[in-house]
Amino acid sequence: MSDPIVIAIDGPSASGKSTNSKIIAAELGFVYVDTGAMYRTLAWHALQSGTNVEDAAAVEKLCRDWPAELVRRGDSVWLEVDGYFPEEEIRSSEVSAVVSHVAQVPFVRDWMKERQRSCVQFGSLVMEGRDITSNIFPDTPHKFYLDASAQVRQARRDADGVEENLAARDQRDSTRKAAPLKKVDGATVINNSGEAPEETSARIIALVRGS
Ligand code: C5P
Repeated sequence: MSDPIVIAIDGPSASGKSTNSKIIAAELGFVYVDTGAMYRTLAWHALQSGTNVEDAAAVEKLCRDWPAELVRRGDSVWLEVDGYFPEEEIRSSEVSAVVSHVAQVPFVRDWMKERQRSCVQFGSLVMEGRDITSNIFPDTPHKFYLDASAQVRQARRDADGVEENLAARDQRDSTRKAAPLKKVDGATVINNSGEAPEETSARIIALVRGS
């Protein structure tokens, strides 16, 4: 069997990563991995357990003791505890407001990195997040950085019905010390402000097939 292929897609919040990644994974028959959902699941767990998300030592302890397991369901991979994935809960405003705090804890990043890298056990991947091109799979030749104007991104989030300050989260994600969001050399930057997902995903698929 040939080695798994990894398509790595990074970008700020509401830059179209999830929509495009799902289309690309379905089209190519790859497994889809939403790493943001993994950080959100831990943030949800922190809220459930009353952990202070701004206390890095407390978040580290929470993560260390967390019996979460990587599972593949259909063509997606996520983290479950006791067979439960809080799919709806992780999209709430409460989780969105705290997730970037838990995501900046170095122990959490190492914990996630180990699990995210091990996703190749499931086959070829479309993996989206903030540090996939820079830190999780820096050696893949298929690196993409999606972007859209701040107004377009905020409008997309508002349309989802989730109230949140995207700018504050993006600021924390791009300025943290551990694995910040950045454009790496070799990544194809695609601004999809005025583009439908079908067009953006078709461009990415064409680039992957042509490389
Ligand atoms: O992609 P999504 O907006 O669901 O990600 C939620 C949060 O998870 C991000 O704002 C960021 O703080 C964190 N994250 C991260 N690294 C990733 C994916 C997400 O730090 N690879």
